[in-house]
Parts: sequence; structure tokens; C-alpha cells
Amino acid sequence: MRFLADSMSSKQKIIIIGSGIIGISVGLALQEVGFHVRIIDEPGSTPKASEGNAGAFAFSDIVPLATPGIMRSAPRWLFDPLGPLSIPPSYAFSIAPWLMKFWRASWSDKFPALLEAQAELMALSRSALDRQAAAHRGEALLRREGQLRLYDTERNFLESASYWSACKEFGISYTLLTSHDEINELQPGLHKRFKYAGYTPDWVNVCDPKLWLRNLYDRFVCGGGFVEHRRARSLSFSSDTVTVRCDDDDLYCDFVVVAAGAWSKSLARTVGDNIPLETERGYNTTFDPGDFDLRTHLTFADHGFVVSKVGESMRVGGAVELGGLNAPPNFERSRILLSKAKQFLPSIDTIGCQEWMGFRPSMPDSLPLIGASPKQSKVVYAFGHGHLGLTQSAATAELVRATILGKPWPISSAPFSAARFMP
Ligand SMILES: Cc1cc2nc3c(=O)[nH]c(=O)nc-3n(C[C@H](O)[C@H](O)[C@H](O)COP(=O)(O)OP(=O)(O)OC[C@H]3O[C@@H](n4cnc5c(N)ncnc54)[C@H](O)[C@@H]3O)c2cc1C
Repeated sequence: MRFLADSMSSKQKIIIIGSGIIGISVGLALQEVGFHVRIIDEPGSTPKASEGNAGAFAFSDIVPLATPGIMRSAPRWLFDPLGPLSIPPSYAFSIAPWLMKFWRASWSDKFPALLEAQAELMALSRSALDRQAAAHRGEALLRREGQLRLYDTERNFLESASYWSACKEFGISYTLLTSHDEINELQPGLHKRFKYAGYTPDWVNVCDPKLWLRNLYDRFVCGGGFVEHRRARSLSFSSDTVTVRCDDDDLYCDFVVVAAGAWSKSLARTVGDNIPLETERGYNTTFDPGDFDLRTHLTFADHGFVVSKVGESMRVGGAVELGGLNAPPNFERSRILLSKAKQFLPSIDTIGCQEWMGFRPSMPDSLPLIGASPKQSKVVYAFGHGHLGLTQSAATAELVRATILGKPWPISSAPFSAARFMP
């Protein structure tokens, strides 16, 4: 769908801070309605989460991470050195307030509303991806091969019933599999221990998240957009102008979109908004799997990692390390995931391994922050997508555009507003 540029949009100047998948998608959506858009990003900064992720449009992942009862499982994971969750002792004190909010989000008076909001955003994300792919020659970069979500034991499979009933409630297609033979038909080569799984056919993957981002970036630049290497330090305001203070200069605009991923918190603070954004650091290893034929995206639900195809390579990634933005990577975590993948897919080769760590921008209630700042209507937030930033990028772009144009949202906006964290 293309909007007609109206007189407002053609005159208004917008600066987007951050050129990850959220910033670039928002840039394209605003460009489509005729806004003059400039994206700034730190020169030589840490790798974007958007370039190295698992490449999944995980449309069936509607269940927020803070599920009822999560705090019973969390200690077990934390004390397992090979487990999917870790908190470095030096960061334990800093992360405590976020963890309290995470726990609070799992309570029965909060969880159903969060689930519903996530499901609404996911439904929009599916249709928004189709619109984005059609408008920006994206279809050729997508693999529509579904996802196999695997369980170690019958008990773990039975415990996942609430996950699948949420999928049913919100109209997500799936098939449950209860034998190794059924699983083997969809994905040969898995270890015989896997007898229980769910298959979600509508899950989509990109061929390579870096290429996906590059394609959208090129389309933005070809459409007349500007991308500049600058670091934004703070935001300030006069009657109708926003000043973006950068290391080297001040920039002026009518609206600013904060899409700086895991680094957005300090910018929001300069607006007066105290947002409980943290990072869940994630790890992966990319390698040549030899003759192994990966036919679908694999999620090992009991181990917190996934296996996906990236170009002609295989990527094994996941883990959650609540360790902040400054500590060096601990690649022991990617090695643990890789050794588990070798057990579960016994015939893979692991030739030419490349390790990577990225910063998921995560809110304690698993919902991203999308919409105008409660303090300054000229500041629009688009960050905090956690594990689902690629999945929700096209929908986020449409919602930011509606916010700036003053149009109603197709889904309810309150669950995504920064106001939800205000006293
Ligand atoms: C291991 C792993 C696997 C994942 N797998 C998936 C997946 O399969 N599917 C999915 O949907 N999501 C996945 N994610 C999550 C997803 O990658 C993120 O949610 C998403 O990339 C966030 O995008 P972003 O644009 O907000 O942030 P980023 O991609 O991190 O981009 C933020 C940009 O802002 C810039 N910036 C920061 N501060 C400033 C400043 N002050 N001034 C200027 N620029 C600034 C940074 O340089 C950066 O380029 C995964 C994440 C990890 C770590």
C-alpha cells in the first residue's frame, strides 16, 4: 500500500536514531508517505543485533517470556552452567529491578493482557511483512519453511500445553507430532531421542538477516533517504523543534524516532522517560554443516537455542545472558550451544565456525516500546523488541508512521506505550 504524500509530510523533517532493522524499516515506511528522513548511527559501533540474529520471523512466538511459574524454572537454569540463562555475578545487582518487573509481568493479573497484546502485534507483523516484502523486493530473500519446536521428553511436551493452547486461541496453525518417524519426515537427521514436537507452518525465515537489512537499507537510500555516521548524545526541545545533540554537531527536526536498540535507554532519559530497558545478550555460531540438509527452522525448546539456515551455512544460536552492555563476550556460551547441536544433529559437520554475540533490547514484559513519549509528543520510541525485533520490524514501522501522521492504530496502543511504566 502506498500513501499519498500530504502537505504535512512533505515538509516535515524526521531524524531516526539507529540503523538496525527497526530504524531502517521505520525510515522506509516514513519515506513512503513523503517525509524527509535522515537516519543517524554511531560510527564503528558494536555489531547490530539486526545483522547477526537467527533470521526468523517467529510469528507463532506470541507467549511472553515471563510466563506464570517462570520463577520456579529460572533458578534451575541459573545454577546449570550449561543452561540457557546466565547472570554474571558482577551484574546481578544492576539487573535486580528489571528482574522484579519481569517477575511481576508473569502474575495472573498481568499475563493474559500481555499475551493478547503480543498476539495482536504478531498478527499485524505477519501482514506487514507481506506488504514490506512486496514493496521492497523482499520475497526472494525469504524462506517459507516453517518451524519445528522440539521437546526432549514426554513430560516437557505435556508441560508445553499452555503454549499450544495460546497458539490455538489466537489462530496460529500448528501440528503436534508424537513420534520420531513423524518428526523425521519433516527433518531427517535428528537424534532418536526427539519424539515430541510441534510444527508451525507459517513461520518464515530470511535467507540471511544481514542481506535482508542491506536490501532495505539500499532501498531507503535509493528512495532519497540519508544515512549519516553520528552518535546522538541527547535530545532537547524548543516550541516546535527537536534538537538532536550529537558528538560533533546539533541536528534539528520536527520529529525524532529513537530506534537505537539496546542503547535507547540513555536517550529516553534525556527526554525525562525512565524506561526499564535491559539487554539479553545472545550468542551464535555460523558454520558449514557439510551434507546436512536443514529443511526447516529448529527450536530446541528445553535448551533455549535454535538452528537456522543462513545463506548456505547453518547458524546455532540462543542463550540469554543478563550481563549489560559493557562486559566482553563470553564465547563459552556459543560453544555450549554448538556442542548440544552436535549431539542433537549427529551428522552435521562444523566447518569454519564463526562466533558472534549480540545485544537484544529487552523490556521486562516482553512487549516493545512503540509510540510517542508521554513527555514529548515529538519523540517517538521504537525499541525494546527483545527476541522479536526482526519479526516485528515491519509492523513497528507502520505503527510509528501512524503515530507521526496522527492516525489511529489497527491494534490497541496502550500496551506498547512508555506510559505503562510511569507511576
Ligand atoms: C542471538 C540472537 C538471535 C536473535 N534471533 C532473532 C530472530 O530469529 N528473530 C527476531 O525477530 N529477532 C531475533 N533477535 C532479536 C533481534 O535481533 C533484535 O530484536 C533486533 O535486531 C533489534 O533491532 P534494533 O534495530 O532495535 O537494534 P540494533 O540492530 O541493535 O540496532 C540499533 C542501532 O542503533 C545504533 N545506536 C545505538 N546508540 C546510538 C546513538 N546514541 N546514536 C546513534 N546510533 C546509535 C547502534 O549502532 C545500532 O546500529 C535475535 C537476537 C540475538 C542476539
